[in-house]
Amino acid sequence: MKNVCIGILGGGQLARMMALAGYPLGLEFVFFDPSASACAGQVGELMVADYHNELALEEFCKRVDVVTLDFENVPVASLRYIKKRKPVFPEPDILEVAQDRYLEKSFCSKHGIPTTAFELVNSRSELMFAAKKFGYEGILKTRRMGYDGKGQYQINKAESINQIPDEIFHSPLILEQKVNFDREVSVVVVRNAQGEVKTWPLCENKHKNGILTTTIVPAKQGPLDKETEAHAVTLSHVLNYVGVLVVEFFQTDSRVMVNEMAPRVHNSGHWSIEGAHTSQFENHLRAGLGLPLGSTAMNGGMAAMLNWIGAFPDNVLSISEEHLYWHIYGKEPKEGRKIGHSTILASDPQKLHDRIVNLVRKLGVQL
Ligand code: AMP
Repeated sequence: MKNVCIGILGGGQLARMMALAGYPLGLEFVFFDPSASACAGQVGELMVADYHNELALEEFCKRVDVVTLDFENVPVASLRYIKKRKPVFPEPDILEVAQDRYLEKSFCSKHGIPTTAFELVNSRSELMFAAKKFGYEGILKTRRMGYDGKGQYQINKAESINQIPDEIFHSPLILEQKVNFDREVSVVVVRNAQGEVKTWPLCENKHKNGILTTTIVPAKQGPLDKETEAHAVTLSHVLNYVGVLVVEFFQTDSRVMVNEMAPRVHNSGHWSIEGAHTSQFENHLRAGLGLPLGSTAMNGGMAAMLNWIGAFPDNVLSISEEHLYWHIYGKEPKEGRKIGHSTILASDPQKLHDRIVNLVRKLGVQL
């Protein structure tokens, strides 16, 4: 029997962890990335070419049976080119929506899913007008190619608008009303083509400078959790989604709003490698191959995921603790770059807290 070969567009840590989850299932992988140093290349075959290079895409399609992605900003036209040759998940039309904050928010609103208030902005004067509407409490974002807080400007008074560089206005923009949320949560949902859907327990996320730093699962119970999960499941159905979809939300006492969605496996689901019966990576592959989904129940009571951003503390691997797992992605350390994560499991919130404090103290770092 020939092994099924999965092609992954993007060769970062998500592709790498997908392959590490797929090898025990007898799957093979080919990664496609414009960079020869893409870290998935350390665990499988890497094709290095531009996403627009049709000859290279043609060659890629010959080598693989089915295609998915680790990066949502892959050109939609390239994905459509691939779709004529090999099955693709998620679908290019979904990527088109998820790549553009305006299309994404409009899609949510159309399906009755609350999202942050927003205004389209194309110039400084339009920004003045829109910001006034939000009482100068806004976040200016590029409609496209934004992630981890990149391409974002806080607006907190009329004067801050004058300080925004001219070149920002060369890209289509959106001004979002600033939400004074109580917490940020995400729902990791997986759906296969037969319409079977599963979610992992709700994830509570902390960010610093727009970048995810920690995830705690399950999130402390809140009154809107069921509604939050239902919104993510609805989105997966109305998109006719196949694979893992992650929806990030802002929650206050009385409101829940979509911040954004990721049409792929996501950093806030990394804990599931050790913390759940089936990881987000395995279930993404199962969904794409039309297989029944694995259980998303947790192993033990709780999990924490700590991101390592920019650099590792000196002594990482010398620290070996029960219930502590290291993931080092093999990427060149660089300011603001995610280069690894740790997962800690525990049976209850107090134990989890103690284990996090213990690790942080041993490493001599601040979270
Ligand atoms: P994003 O790249 O849109 O997910 O934004 C990165 C982070 O910035 C989010 O996780 C929030 O912490 C913060 N943020 C983004 N949009 C808003 C908003 N409308 N109101 C308040 N905080 C926001």
